[in-house]
Amino acid sequence: MHEMSLAEGVLQLIEDAAREQKFERVTTVWLEIGQLSGVEVEAMKFCFDAVMRDSIADGATLEIVATPGTGWCMQCSMSVPMSEVFGECPQCGSHQMQVTGGTEMRVKELEVA
Ligand SMILES: [Zn+2]
Repeated sequence: MHEMSLAEGVLQLIEDAAREQKFERVTTVWLEIGQLSGVEVEAMKFCFDAVMRDSIADGATLEIVATPGTGWCMQCSMSVPMSEVFGECPQCGSHQMQVTGGTEMRVKELEVA
C-alpha cells in the first residue's frame, strides 16, 4: 500500500512546518488529491489515521480535496478533462493524450492550534 509512505511524507511535512511556524497541534489537514494521482482516498484516510497516531497531528481530521484530471489532446489541440491516465479524449475519442494536471497529491492547508 503506497498510501502508507505518502502519509508518512505528509507527517514529515507537518513536522517541518510545525518547527518553522512554531505550532504544537494540528487539528485539520486539507489534502489535495488529483484524480489521476493513483492515490486511493479510502486507503489514504486509513493510513493517515495510523501514521498520525502519537504525532502532533494525532486525531486530526483529514479533509480530502479532489482535484480533477486534465489532459492535452494532440488531435483537438486543446485541454480536456481526463478521468483516467490512459483515457481517451472526450471530444474526439483519440488516445493521443498528454496528462497535464491532477496527478499530484499535496497538503493544501493546515488548521493548527
Ligand atoms: Zn481530442
